[in-house]
Amino acid sequence: MPPGFLERRAPNQLFINNEWVTAASGGTFPTYHPANGELIAEVAAGLAPDVDKAVKAARAAFNDPKWRNMDAADRGVLLWRIADAIEARQQELIRIEVMDNGKPLREAQIDLREAIDAFRYYAGWTTKMTGDTIPVRGNVLNYTLREPVGVVGAIIPWNFPLLMAAWKVAPALACGNTVVLKPAEQTPLTALELAAIASEAGLPAGVLNVITGLGESAGAALVAHPDVDKIAFTGSTQVGKIIMRTAAESLKKVSLELGGKSPNIVFDDADVDAAVRGSFAAIYYNNGQCCTAGSRLLVHERVADHLVEKIAERAKKMTPGDPLDPKTRMSPVISQEQLDRIMGYIETGTREGATLVTGGKRAPYNGAETGYWIEPTIFDQVKPEHTIAQEEIFGPVLAAVRFSDEEEAIDIANRTIYGLAAGIWTSDVKRAHRVAKRLEAGTIWINTYHPLDAASPFGGYKQSGYGRELGAYALDLYTQIKSVWVDLS
Ligand code: NDP
Repeated sequence: MPPGFLERRAPNQLFINNEWVTAASGGTFPTYHPANGELIAEVAAGLAPDVDKAVKAARAAFNDPKWRNMDAADRGVLLWRIADAIEARQQELIRIEVMDNGKPLREAQIDLREAIDAFRYYAGWTTKMTGDTIPVRGNVLNYTLREPVGVVGAIIPWNFPLLMAAWKVAPALACGNTVVLKPAEQTPLTALELAAIASEAGLPAGVLNVITGLGESAGAALVAHPDVDKIAFTGSTQVGKIIMRTAAESLKKVSLELGGKSPNIVFDDADVDAAVRGSFAAIYYNNGQCCTAGSRLLVHERVADHLVEKIAERAKKMTPGDPLDPKTRMSPVISQEQLDRIMGYIETGTREGATLVTGGKRAPYNGAETGYWIEPTIFDQVKPEHTIAQEEIFGPVLAAVRFSDEEEAIDIANRTIYGLAAGIWTSDVKRAHRVAKRLEAGTIWINTYHPLDAASPFGGYKQSGYGRELGAYALDLYTQIKSVWVDLS
């Protein structure tokens, strides 16, 4: 870990009101380096009383004129300063992220850049959020105010820890809210750092608080807390449903970015080399641990053999390596639990009759069965109804499903409960747009896969969630509209 990192706070401390605060229980839980399974730090096990303390701090900060009445321009400057402060500490943050999550250095660098982008993008929005004047009947002035929602509970997963924090915290603060952030138990470290950095950059006390802890306790307490106005959640569809049920009790606003089983469709008129490279990245970026992972390769039967063979050739070259080594491309999965889950899906794939083309086993690291490594795995001849073509595996497992025409491709693509993203590979521009329109997904990539940008909306159709993060659309998640009537007669 970076020098000094573990000395900055006691293991049992949370970040509340711009201070390191000892968790009520005094308890901790461990976080491990996924590459070798070794303990890297103990982190405070926050519980309901800690959540309550953080929510009270966030509420007080929300009501404090220092934050509430801060000029929009000054809020923008503050967000920009946070971006600068993240940038100044980026080498350290990248290292912490690599250790905590196991992702390769190169991918952690991309996350960092995108997290900084998010703060800078929303810094620009603070002065551009306006209401309307509305031509109503009568001698009346009617106008709208766009106001913050209040205290936001943000709950994030482990696959892009700092980036997911930035995607929620940056727009929430830009809109004038205050935040209690609950990072995933597997990757709590960069969220704590982010809060400390924001405080050093001048964010007033209580505006951003971090409660580390388990989902069933800290996360659930945040969702149930009566003084939290909104929950912004990224994670599994299963937990998204639990959150909605709990949030119903106090009718909190909820936005959900959930799972996916995204189809990556390769037509027989595609540039095959580009489709091979793109389809490989679609599944293996972040080791398949992306909500948008192109985990279903829908491939035209005329090019299927060639395409699957070429992707498999690349997959066989992937070997475990030290995630801190800039040359490493493959990463471990996040935890033993996730490894067991993925190995279970691989067994199911074989049992249900799909053809295992490559992979399927644990991969050794430094010659031993240590850490959570799985060989990049490809199944061919997968049927649309197979479990591995329907359920989110969240690991390095590709399911190739063959189709014979465009209609069939669209039908198979839309035949899951999910609708987060989809890829289309074709050289026919009419087909590209025709198919894009018919796919039930919040993001469509044509002849590319995975690009995202702070300026472009992101979110799901169907059970992949609702609400759009990023872009101007995220402002709707973190503001509410007030209609003001003035009698002029
Ligand atoms: P979860 O949905 O369980 O976790 C996401 C976040 O929610 C974590 O911070 C978690 O805390 C928290 N959480 C868990 N239970 C509750 C609860 N009852 N109330 C409030 N918050 C809660 O995902 P997992 O980490 O368990 O991963 C399981 C599967 O979910 C993966 O295999 C993958 O399929 C999917 N997933 C999808 C993601 C996506 O972006 N679409 C991201 C991550 C996972 P804690 O970490 O303590 O459990």
